Amino acid sequence: MRRKIIVLASVGIIMGALALGFVDSEQLRIWAGHLYLVGRYEASKLAQQNPLGNIEHARICRGNLDRLQAAKRKIAEMRSTAVGAVTWEEVIAVMYPDKVRRGVTPALVEQLKPRCPSGGTYTLGNIQDLPKCSIGSNNNTDPNDDHLIRH
Ligand SMILES: [Zn+2]
Repeated sequence: MRRKIIVLASVGIIMGALALGFVDSEQLRIWAGHLYLVGRYEASKLAQQNPLGNIEHARICRGNLDRLQAAKRKIAEMRSTAVGAVTWEEVIAVMYPDKVRRGVTPALVEQLKPRCPSGGTYTLGNIQDLPKCSIGSNNNTDPNDDHLIRH
């Protein structure tokens, strides 16, 4: 009889622990998800409130745009033309001659493409245009945080 009670109690404790464990892990998952969202929101707010961070990102982005433009100029020189379309394949081949010796694949282009630190998307434009970042001028008057080159 005593043995039976102990066994039953043990089973009860194990079942209880399992039930609690389930609730806990589910709860933890919800809390973690919530924390993640709050963290991301705070980080984005911080980035908006942190002009130095924005300026640093913009500086790196302008550097990328300069490199893209330099590659486009080189392509224009190679073709002896000042107008016309250019492709990412051509630009990447000019920027990384050592890495594309065995041919430029779409995967390689994706891997080597410069990345805007603020998540903007680059558009090469034609030879006669300047390359652009989708973030652009931020719609404010401060040129230091612009993802934009003017020459
Ligand atoms: Zn950018």
